[in-house]
Amino acid sequence: MPVRNPYLAALKAGYLFPEIARRRREFAALHPDDPVRIISLGVGNTTEPVLPVINAGLVEGARKLSKVETYTGYSDEGLLELREAISRVFYQSAFSAGEIFISDGAKCDIGRLQLLFGAGVKVAVQDPSYPVYVDGSVLIGAAQNDGGEGYGGITYLPCTAENGYFPGLEALPQNSLLYFCSPNNPTGATATKAELTELVHAALKKGVIIIFDAAYAEYIRDPALPKTIYDIPGSRNCAVEVNSFSKPAGFTGVRLGWTVVPKELTYAGGESVNADWSRVMGTIFNGASNISQAGGLAALTSEGLKEVRALCDFYLGNAALIRGALEKQGIICSGGVNSPYIWARFPGRDSWEVFAEILEKCRVVTTPGSGFGPCGQSFIRFSAFGHRADVKEAAGRLRKLAD
Ligand code: PLP
Repeated sequence: MPVRNPYLAALKAGYLFPEIARRRREFAALHPDDPVRIISLGVGNTTEPVLPVINAGLVEGARKLSKVETYTGYSDEGLLELREAISRVFYQSAFSAGEIFISDGAKCDIGRLQLLFGAGVKVAVQDPSYPVYVDGSVLIGAAQNDGGEGYGGITYLPCTAENGYFPGLEALPQNSLLYFCSPNNPTGATATKAELTELVHAALKKGVIIIFDAAYAEYIRDPALPKTIYDIPGSRNCAVEVNSFSKPAGFTGVRLGWTVVPKELTYAGGESVNADWSRVMGTIFNGASNISQAGGLAALTSEGLKEVRALCDFYLGNAALIRGALEKQGIICSGGVNSPYIWARFPGRDSWEVFAEILEKCRVVTTPGSGFGPCGQSFIRFSAFGHRADVKEAAGRLRKLAD
């Protein structure tokens, strides 16, 4: 028998969301006759149907496969038309098609990107952060490289209410890989242009590559807030951007995303990151589904973009209801504006204990902030992904938190 990858043993127990699902099942089993239905505001999974123009694109993509004249097989780095449309719609055509790689989603690309750097890389993350950055780094062994306890190779940059959820960058290690997410999951904070400028300057000075996760960019409604790291001069020399159709188009199950790797970006030795990414993708990925890509193309037409906006507006409406209900209870929140996540503070309390209290009193499932990193302790993340009737019902039940 081959031995187990030792880095698997270094993963912290249970990925957060299976653990939440387990606790929900446990609670339901303890209350088998409970007449009150449990509502989830826990996960970041979309709930609303794909809107008509985008859906027609998916249907058309499937139809094309049924005819010899229009059938297509592998699409490698993605349909040229889609790569060009992404560059036009999101980056004012600032990137060539060769700098945009179509994928099956941002999470998958985040995992694959780590292969570019290997086990020796120093990693920095916002604390709290989307768990995949840390767990993916652990899996390639990067967390172990300085032999410290636990995740010694990972530097956690605290994002707290005090610093407005933008980390101090003094602790950012030289020549490291920094995962940065804005609008942020879980804090809902969206970095300003001044903050991203500070970030890019620090990265250029310290030889850092930023993996900028813009999966929630379409939730930004404030025109002063950057939707992409490439709004910041100098970023082409220090940043890769991952993005996704999941949250703006309801493609969590359809699967489609992209990664931008500028031609200017190099490693310490001057080698091209873009060329290596093309090699990695060509080696372990065989292209996104042609059906998803047809849907993606429809999403980027003017009618499709209206649907994207409408869908994000719908979830932002949910976010406003949840945040409003929490604030009525005197709970201090961030996010829920320019972001589908609300980050609620419960000072001095343990996150899992608050999770249990909300489940007990309101029959609402949330996400304990501590699952996103040490600085998430005493916070709860509320997700705005849900049907309106459920969100209204849950928001009403949150009144019981005052009891
Ligand atoms: N990045 C962040 C910050 C997320 O919260 C998520 C999903 O919740 C993803 C990426 C995953 O995106 P995708 O569905 O494209 O894999």
